Amino acid sequence: MARISGRRAYRLLQSIAYERLAASPEETKAAHTLAEEVETFGLKSEIETFKIWDYKIKTATLEVLEPFQATYEVKGYGLTGSTAAQGLEAELLYVEDAGDVNLQNAAGKIILMNEGLTVDKYEKLIKAKVAGFIMMGGPVWERGDIPQRSIRDTHFKHGKIPAVSMLTADAFKMVKRKASKVRIVLQQDEFEADSRNVIAEIKGTKYPNEVILFGAHYDSVPYSSGANDNGAGSVIIMELARMFADKPPLRTVRFVWFGAEELGLLGSFAYVEKHEKELEEIKYVINVDVAGGFLGKNVALITANERVKGHVETLARQEGLEMDTRLDVYSSDSIPFADKGIPGINFCRFGAPIHNRHDVLQYISPARLEEMAAFVYKYADAVVNAKFFPVEREMTDGVKKNLKAYLERRNGKSKEEKKD
Ligand SMILES: [Zn+2]
Repeated sequence: MARISGRRAYRLLQSIAYERLAASPEETKAAHTLAEEVETFGLKSEIETFKIWDYKIKTATLEVLEPFQATYEVKGYGLTGSTAAQGLEAELLYVEDAGDVNLQNAAGKIILMNEGLTVDKYEKLIKAKVAGFIMMGGPVWERGDIPQRSIRDTHFKHGKIPAVSMLTADAFKMVKRKASKVRIVLQQDEFEADSRNVIAEIKGTKYPNEVILFGAHYDSVPYSSGANDNGAGSVIIMELARMFADKPPLRTVRFVWFGAEELGLLGSFAYVEKHEKELEEIKYVINVDVAGGFLGKNVALITANERVKGHVETLARQEGLEMDTRLDVYSSDSIPFADKGIPGINFCRFGAPIHNRHDVLQYISPARLEEMAAFVYKYADAVVNAKFFPVEREMTDGVKKNLKAYLERRNGKSKEEKKD
């Protein structure tokens, strides 16, 4: 009889704890590790590739020309195009969050902006005829890693503006010294590349056409070994797959390790698009994203109704596990399914570092991995083997509102309005 093991989960986590950028050879390697692991307990695995836009930065520089001369270290902003080989020279304007007031005088200039680029904001930069932009990132008080970012097709369908990222600590110096004219050089190759979803399934013994989908993304952000986000979720659902493989449930369980989540949920959106016709049979999505921290707090973000929230809350108390349960959306792979009306739940443990080079194994505990895996299994087992399926295809009005706002931020308001 199989049992959940935090040690085994941790060992698998160790084997994929390296930077796993979408469509990189490392992401591919991790996909194969997960696929092979699935086969060790007798399941078949399938790898579905999907195309994403990728890039390679060849040159990225920033020089201040007036009223003083200096160069600052920058990273090219992926998929924003290239400047002429000799670069782009223009007046510099600090526009803070790039609102309408500050953008009114931005035409033909290189703008410096605070962190955060929604599709709507990017569209505004295009309309304001900005020549180039510099985005800052990181704390003002120390020099860490320069953010390595890219835009998506949801942005660049509006046009391209060559851009670079710099440290906020450097931007502070540049603004303080009143830099007024700068030159940026950006040269990059842009191309389509393959990312991958890894899929495994166990057919239900009584209701094979009712599917509960378990999700976890296995890609990481730059500089990060993605132990917490989300190698941990990946190995937790692997433990569940092992349990269900040992004792097939009444309903079908499907496990999907998503690629390219960190670029904007690209793996799960690709899955939903590719399997559009089969979405009716997916009854529920159980997603794990960020878990296993020695320190932290357990959270369940539920994109469903009050009944589901009550169930999870009660079960957590029965199991003696502190869990903050909320009806809300979570920026993870349950979103594309929710967009199609499929309810979901996201299990997370917030606290240990994410999205930087400090997201490492050192902060992850085998015992906490085991605790989360055991709880998610207990809950999933109750749902998957229920005599009467306990999750309606329903979301509260609050959840729907938050989902709409999330999708507007991701895709731009105009697109969402057209859909209504
Ligand atoms: Zn994540």
